[in-house]
Amino acid sequence: VAKDAGRNRVSHFTPELQQAAVTRSRLAKDLRAALAEGQLHLAYQPIVALGSGAVHKAEALLRWRHPVRGPVPPGDFIPIAESTGLIVDIGDWVFREAVRQVQAWRARLCPDFQLSVNKSPVQFVNGGGRHDWIALLRQAGLPGQCVVLEITESLLLDAASGVSEQLLALRDAGIGVSLDDFGTGYSSMAYLQHYDIDHLKIDQRFVRHLGPGSKELALCKAIIVMAHELGMTVIAEGVETAAQRDLLAAAGCDYGQGYLFARPMAPADFEAWLAARPPA
Ligand code: C2E
Ligand code: MG
Ligand code: MG
Ligand code: MG
Repeated sequence: VAKDAGRNRVSHFTPELQQAAVTRSRLAKDLRAALAEGQLHLAYQPIVALGSGAVHKAEALLRWRHPVRGPVPPGDFIPIAESTGLIVDIGDWVFREAVRQVQAWRARLCPDFQLSVNKSPVQFVNGGGRHDWIALLRQAGLPGQCVVLEITESLLLDAASGVSEQLLALRDAGIGVSLDDFGTGYSSMAYLQHYDIDHLKIDQRFVRHLGPGSKELALCKAIIVMAHELGMTVIAEGVETAAQRDLLAAAGCDYGQGYLFARPMAPADFEAWLAARPPA
């Protein structure tokens, strides 16, 4: 049996798989250099209040411009950053960059502007990264309310030791917590009893197939009612059409994010986009 399994494994190690493994290890090596050499930057996607159209929030999304390959999608390099542990240093950089940007936009655009930053479960291991994010905000003279951390259900389900303490400390400092990609994990929902979550982001796979009378609309409505009952606000991800926006607004969804409003943009483009909008 062992021999069979061994032969099986060898026969499944196709040239394609080998090529993918080589690409992965090259990307891991290049990613190490990317941070030091300034190849990473953040793009900002507006989060729009569906009732008023106001924009006081955005999500910071990491971008990597590889010197040879050009832009590498986060879906390709975030998993590598996580498996190598590089996400800890990269995540610290993302946070500092987002704090610098939110400080500038609070001064220039709107005094209560808020940025969301994604934080993967790996970044909670061993008490978090090298830098104390709460202290960083304090040093910048900023209130916790200027950032929201987007976490995923898997973090709460695994419930590694120290996670709930870290989440409590963040919330004590006024930092918001958002549950990203809601509805795609193994949502037992029992964790909603134990953690205080401020915002819930409905995953784009529910939004994509929204239509009158659809199962997706029923699910969105149920999620929105549940979230509101639990004191959370709701953000729909991946809003691409006016029809989706209207169905979500009618269902009581608080915020929308998606290509209908804008793609993730460089800071200057974000400011120009905002300036071109009719006042809310
Ligand atoms: P996410 O946090 O769920 O981010 C939303 C993703 O949906 C982004 O993909 C965004 O560009 C995309 N998106 C926004 N509107 C639409 C739309 O209308 N239609 C479609 N089809 N897509 C839309 P992106 O930027 O490729 O990021 C992918 C994922 O990578 C993120 O998913 C997040 O999990 C992760 N990620 C990105 N930046 C960071 C970071 O700084 N740290 C960590 N740990 N993860 C990050
Ligand atoms: Mg997110
Ligand atoms: Mg998401
Ligand atoms: Mg995601």
